[in-house]
Amino acid sequence: MKIGRFQKQEEIFYGIIEGDNVCLIEGETYSGDIVPGRVLYPLAGVRTLAPCVPSKAVCVGLNYRDHAEELGLKVPDEPVLFLKPSSAVIGPDEHILCPEMSKQVDYEAEVAVVIGRTCRNISQAEAASYILGYTCAVDVTARDLQRRDGQWSRAKSFDTFLPLGPYVVNDLDPGSLKISLYLNGVLKQHSSTKNLIFSIPYLVSFISRIMTLNSGDVILTGTPAGVGPLHRGDRVEVIIEGIGRLENQVR
Ligand code: MG
Repeated sequence: MKIGRFQKQEEIFYGIIEGDNVCLIEGETYSGDIVPGRVLYPLAGVRTLAPCVPSKAVCVGLNYRDHAEELGLKVPDEPVLFLKPSSAVIGPDEHILCPEMSKQVDYEAEVAVVIGRTCRNISQAEAASYILGYTCAVDVTARDLQRRDGQWSRAKSFDTFLPLGPYVVNDLDPGSLKISLYLNGVLKQHSSTKNLIFSIPYLVSFISRIMTLNSGDVILTGTPAGVGPLHRGDRVEVIIEGIGRLENQVR
């Protein structure tokens, strides 16, 4: 099932993709019982928004061995976490804005986990029942500020630094999602969640033992090797097999 968030004129709604149409969801989107309604809109007649409205994005640094190596950093013994604010979220086709403060803004393609039901202190075995699904994300990073500050809040938190979408897909094996990033049509990153140091169930359990995860919250699972800089006018595409393509331009 492909779940999205859409806008038609003033109305914002959640829906399920059915071919070239969007079917409005009746009732709770995140409760686990997603009921397709009777109202259908042509996909071409609606705007696709970021598929969720997170209260927070919990991100994992250095979760692919090859990316830790390219940054010259040691593979961590425990997940290294940081937060991105919800104000950084943008949807498909919205622009990534390079801030004046930074001279190097990098792309990082990531698989994002979208939480379905509120959870706290859950085990790895329970994780799947609290996950709504998976979507594409870019962890946009002001690399120069990340190095200069010694911690990552400023570097990761500018407005537009968290593109998400296009849809949340819920019938996938999180252990083998293939992820690719194309910059202006050229392949720059390619890997699979098979190569994660800390698996998705491990991460959901680990984070839930630190903070309550609310429905709609996202967990960014880390980026593989191949990160690099963005420049104004660039076109960034993240493709995850089974989910779709998230495209954003840089301004
Ligand atoms: Mg990252």
